[in-house]
Amino acid sequence: MDCIFCKIVQHQLPAQVLFENEKVISILDINPIHYGHALVIPKTHCADFLHIPESDLHDVLHVTQIVARAIVRSLNLEGFNIFSNNGRIAGQSVFHFHMHITPRYPNDNIQFILELKSYSADSMIEYADKIRNNISP
Ligand code: 5GP
Ligand code: ZN
Repeated sequence: MDCIFCKIVQHQLPAQVLFENEKVISILDINPIHYGHALVIPKTHCADFLHIPESDLHDVLHVTQIVARAIVRSLNLEGFNIFSNNGRIAGQSVFHFHMHITPRYPNDNIQFILELKSYSADSMIEYADKIRNNISP
């Protein structure tokens, strides 16, 4: 499979590795939102958040916390974002699941431009029911 993150995991492509254990690798993003923007990548390939096995997800989140602490400490941050893009429409460009950790600064002009909606009482129940009916733990 021609997956850029699998190649990084196997050290076939260079990367600035911040942390690595048996299951997970964390690297600097090559095109950062802010300098220090990191990625946390499971070593086993899987396309996205919906497909990652629970134990790998646990490992990824654990390493995300470890690396986020290091980024906050080293860059003396007041805040940061963690996020994951899932699906092309959501901005995913590498189809090997990963978390982003990006520093935030005052007035850094990074924002979702959102037009917030409100629910009518009925439609809120409708949406909640739709989702509740599809929960399969
Ligand atoms: P996505 O758009 O899928 O959420 O995030 C993919 C991220 O991987 C992007 O932020 C992009 O800059 C980063 N990226 C893509 N190719 C490489 C690479 O070869 N090396 C590194 N370090 N980051 C990469
Ligand atoms: Zn992969």
